Formats: sequence, C-alpha cells, structure tokens
Amino acid sequence: MATIQDTKQIIHVSTNIGRGCPECGAPLGVDNFESGVNHLIQQHGYKLLHVGAERDDDNEGKTIHHTVAVLGK
Ligand SMILES: [Zn+2]
Repeated sequence: MATIQDTKQIIHVSTNIGRGCPECGAPLGVDNFESGVNHLIQQHGYKLLHVGAERDDDNEGKTIHHTVAVLGK
C-alpha cells in the first residue's frame, strides 16, 4: 500500500458526489463507484489508500451514509 507521504496526487471517489475522472474525464462516483475506483487503479495506476464510510445530514435532518475511497499515485 502506498503511503500518503509518497503520494503526489490524491483523489477522493464518493458515492455521494459525482465527478469526472481528473485524468480523462470519465464519470466517477454515484452510480459508478466501483467502476470509478477500478478505472483509476487499472487505467491510471492509482493505488487504493483508504476506503471508508462518511456520514452526512440531508436537507431533512436525516443522517445519510456514503462510501468514500481515497486513491493516490
Ligand atoms: Zn480516467
């Protein structure tokens, strides 16, 4: 596993936030969480640094959970 100190670039992929791949613009996150993580690993050589759950409150005060992955290279 890579360490943060060795890492030049860090990317967060979240089930809560859709974003494009910073390398090639492919859609990551939301419905593409696993494929987005796999994409970064397989296509761009990122290493998985962390996978975890985040919690947040939605507009109606309910707690929602989503999964985040942190990748770096
Ligand atoms: Zn890409």
